[in-house]
Amino acid sequence: MTTTAYDIEASKDTLGRFLRDEVIPLEKEAGLSPDVAPPAELRRKVRRRAHALGFYAADMPREAGGGGLALSERVLLDMEALSHETVFFEDVMGGPGGPSSILLACDERQREKYLLPLVRGEITTCFALSEPEAGSDAGGLRLRARRTNGTYVLNGTKNIITNAPQCDFAMVFAVTDEARGAMGGITCFLVDKGTPGFSVGRVHTCMGFTGFQGELVFEECEVPAASILGQEGYGLALALDWINANRIKIGAAAAGLSRRLLAASTAYAARRRQFGRPIGDNQGIQWKLADMATELFAVESMVTRVAAMWDRKLDVRKEAAMVKLYASEMVNRAAYEAIQIHGGTGCLLETGLERVARMVRVYTIVEGTSEIQRIGIARRLLKELAA
Ligand SMILES: Cc1cc2nc3c(=O)[nH]c(=O)nc-3n(C[C@H](O)[C@H](O)[C@H](O)COP(=O)(O)OP(=O)(O)OC[C@H]3O[C@@H](n4cnc5c(N)ncnc54)[C@H](O)[C@@H]3O)c2cc1C
Repeated sequence: MTTTAYDIEASKDTLGRFLRDEVIPLEKEAGLSPDVAPPAELRRKVRRRAHALGFYAADMPREAGGGGLALSERVLLDMEALSHETVFFEDVMGGPGGPSSILLACDERQREKYLLPLVRGEITTCFALSEPEAGSDAGGLRLRARRTNGTYVLNGTKNIITNAPQCDFAMVFAVTDEARGAMGGITCFLVDKGTPGFSVGRVHTCMGFTGFQGELVFEECEVPAASILGQEGYGLALALDWINANRIKIGAAAAGLSRRLLAASTAYAARRRQFGRPIGDNQGIQWKLADMATELFAVESMVTRVAAMWDRKLDVRKEAAMVKLYASEMVNRAAYEAIQIHGGTGCLLETGLERVARMVRVYTIVEGTSEIQRIGIARRLLKELAA
């Protein structure tokens, strides 16, 4: 896969065909529920195939086995992927359990053991930051890594971690220096499943996602110093760039889902007749469609513009927060209106709309809540004024 605009259009077509002809039939054949985590073996099969086609890990560097796409190109594929209904969406493009730019900080040994197999879709990971007592306030982590002779001993619990139940190894953020806190006191450890003292706790049933999230429990779990990713104390700094990219990707996912909602709503408004004419002839319905389309266009424009800024290595902290905030709230409005346009039919499982409405509800919470995005945006505005 190369990085010209023409090839991206061709790739979008190939991606659409792959989803329609291979992934969705596989899902049907296996009788999978749309929001329950599929078996690990099937997920691996989809990932390997998606990687061979150049979709999985599309934006990871070629030297690491990825597709070498820019983020501004990857988001176009994300929008296409999410406009199709499939439970395998994370396995097609790569999500929180897949390859992430944080792992480019791997040393040679870690690269062979974790990064390369992860990019090929052979193994999966999870990003374990949140804890029962520390969500928005990452500086309040309680999971401790106590240094002993050349090893670290981890104690604590991680909470609502995507892919915790199925991951092969976890990226675990732990406090190594209480006095330094978030700035220099939090370290990222790569911890293998099966390490004594490391277990999966509760597997969560979360709205829209059953079996994808879970707890990770560490009880006197001893890991070698060689399991530190990057430098001790700089775990959060490593995550920062990745978090910005992820916020932009959430915007792309929201846009893809909104396309699906808008297409279904427009078709239904034209088809459904009440009072002797299509409901789409009524201005009340037309305004809903017009607002959905306008907001979708705004999000698509924001996503592609900020992704291009990220590719140019500009500071996008404020803009990525704006994309995440606006897109996650927009797709919730779109899901609400799509069901409203469909009336009672929209509440039936068979339309797939209630599924989207449940799924996108978490978008205003993951990767920083809407409140946290607003705080970040406003702080940057005030800082820029003071500069
Ligand atoms: C589906 C799903 C998947 C997830 N996956 C992962 C994952 O893979 N890895 C991971 O580490 N975490 C994951 N999380 C956890 C997620 O990151 C946290 O839920 C999120 O950061 C919010 O933290 P919290 O739930 O503890 O809420 P809290 O921080 O307790 O916030 C509760 C409410 O208070 C508000 N609030 C908090 N502080 C302020 C403030 N200063 N000003 C105004 N309002 C404030 C929040 O906005 C929110 O509305 C996932 C969560 C979900 C739902």
